[in-house]
Amino acid sequence: MMKNKTRFCQNKDIFERMNYLYQASHLIALKDKVAASYYGNMMMRCAKKVVLHVEPNLKRTLCKCCQTPLIPGETARVRLISKPVKGVKWTCLTCMNTKRFPTRKGYKLWLDEPQAVFKIFDYTPEEEKKEIEDEGKDKNERKRKKEDIQQSDLQGKSLNCSSKCKKPS
Ligand SMILES: [Zn+2]
Repeated sequence: MMKNKTRFCQNKDIFERMNYLYQASHLIALKDKVAASYYGNMMMRCAKKVVLHVEPNLKRTLCKCCQTPLIPGETARVRLISKPVKGVKWTCLTCMNTKRFPTRKGYKLWLDEPQAVFKIFDYTPEEEKKEIEDEGKDKNERKRKKEDIQQSDLQGKSLNCSSKCKKPS
């Protein structure tokens, strides 16, 4: 182990910025497509600048051509296709660009396979780790509580989103 125990996440600021831009683009997608596309574009540019790889599952929710977030039924049309191979076809309704994803049986992305995980980094500050170790038995309880809080936060957020994103009648 290294002597300097507390590790710092490299490019943390960029990750945070990308996270913010991604959420912003999804929030605003139903109201203003141009702004949504702009935020998506900014996110991909952030990733490119510091050579970060965006996860395929995340990347597939953005249009490859105009970076608008693809929301089925709202900003994208999703159809099952059988030619030339069975798959799902996504059409961006902003720029009409299409993407096809094969749905062959047993087809898996490399990242979804277990051997793709090489190493897991733990960026928990050393002080927090000690606290967790000291409490020992309470660890699991605390984890659960944290998860509960996060879940309730998420639910609250999603509720906010849906109320904000409603179309003006
Ligand atoms: Zn597009």
